[in-house]
Amino acid sequence: MFVSDCLNINANGHLTIGNVDTMELAKQYGTPVYVIDEQAVRNNCKAFVSSMKENYGENGLVLYASKAFCCKEMCRICNEEGMGLDVVSGGELYTAISAGFPTEKICFHGNNKTVQELTMAVENGVGRIVVDNIEELGRLDSICKEKNLKANILLRIKPGVEAHTHEFIRTGQIDSKFGFAIETGEALDAVKKAIATENINITGLHCHIGSQIFDIDPFVFAAKVMLDFMALVKKETGTELKELNLGGGFGIKYLSTENPPAFFDYMNTVAGKVKEYAKELGLNSPFIFIEPGRSIVGAAGITLYTVGSVKEIPNIRTYVAIDGGMFDNPRYILYQSKYEIMCANKANEPKDMCVTVAGKCCESGDLIGEHTMIQQVEPGDILAVLSTGAYNFSMASNYNRNGRPPVVMVNNGESRIIVKGDSYEDLVRNDI
Ligand SMILES: *Cc1c(COP(=O)(O)O)cnc(C)c1O
Repeated sequence: MFVSDCLNINANGHLTIGNVDTMELAKQYGTPVYVIDEQAVRNNCKAFVSSMKENYGENGLVLYASKAFCCKEMCRICNEEGMGLDVVSGGELYTAISAGFPTEKICFHGNNKTVQELTMAVENGVGRIVVDNIEELGRLDSICKEKNLKANILLRIKPGVEAHTHEFIRTGQIDSKFGFAIETGEALDAVKKAIATENINITGLHCHIGSQIFDIDPFVFAAKVMLDFMALVKKETGTELKELNLGGGFGIKYLSTENPPAFFDYMNTVAGKVKEYAKELGLNSPFIFIEPGRSIVGAAGITLYTVGSVKEIPNIRTYVAIDGGMFDNPRYILYQSKYEIMCANKANEPKDMCVTVAGKCCESGDLIGEHTMIQQVEPGDILAVLSTGAYNFSMASNYNRNGRPPVVMVNNGESRIIVKGDSYEDLVRNDI
């Protein structure tokens, strides 16, 4: 009935997460507060790691796309679960290094990494740098030359597949800021240049076709396009690339009515197709990487807020104002993302009140949900927004000089802070 197994309702009619009463959490840590269930996160990691193993043996690695939710504890958990890590900035790389994450299992993405970021990656022995453009290839070569080090790279390719939830387009998607296009010959030129570049070792290719994808077909199609291209590379250069990174984008449940495919089904199908296509094309099965982000943490997290006011505008709508908003969850104002919202202290009551949940920022668009059914709420109630584990904390800001809320991790009845909230002192720390 809930979007995640880690949620439940206890005898007091309160929402629980990881067997902890959300009312206790709100009391102990204040609101707003992000809460993430450790078991749910670890179970998701295990599901990915074990289906890779079952369907593709030791010839693959699951990388957690840390942009979904990045902090030291999350890096430690991924390391313990035997995963690698994706980072997209010096800050994410620094976080991983600070957590003692093995850098050879890190993959560094980004369409415009700075010289400083590339240098940091090379000096710290980052396992794979995903090169996005020709300028970056040159920049990386100079850095490696200067440091007398070699970098292992993948090239980011536009496979001409763009997928979102229930639709995918097979047009040559040349208009993307990421990577090299196959159709124009740009990708093949880049591979040739990379092979010829002295201080760089090109191990393979990367593609990422979108996010919150519910169908397996677009992933299969992208794998086919990439393997065809690998065969072309072999024919044109004599070099057989050994690695293929298929990206992330696996959909999660934001609403209890949604039904994303089980991860095992995805892995089973895609792994089988990769092996089949490689064989047909006379290639060895490549080492594959996959990069789940949202699907590891999204449904494992919730956000708790306190209702401050309920403002009924007759015949128009009822605003329920909370003590958070776009500064802790910008996904509604950015994409009108839908969330399941409930009154955590009235979790057993019927959802028969239609509301617009409004944040406290000075923007009319600062909403978390519109025309959403929740329980009859009044000021002082605690609202829970579900499936906020991904792209909430990581996209949070200090807009209006609001402090970002703390992140609390729960685990079978216990709770602990894993990221402190911003204090007022934190907000002025860098001001001169
Ligand atoms: C964002 C991103 C991911 C993760 O996407 P999810 O939708 O969170 O799974 C993986 N790889 C790359 C390159 C990305 O940009």
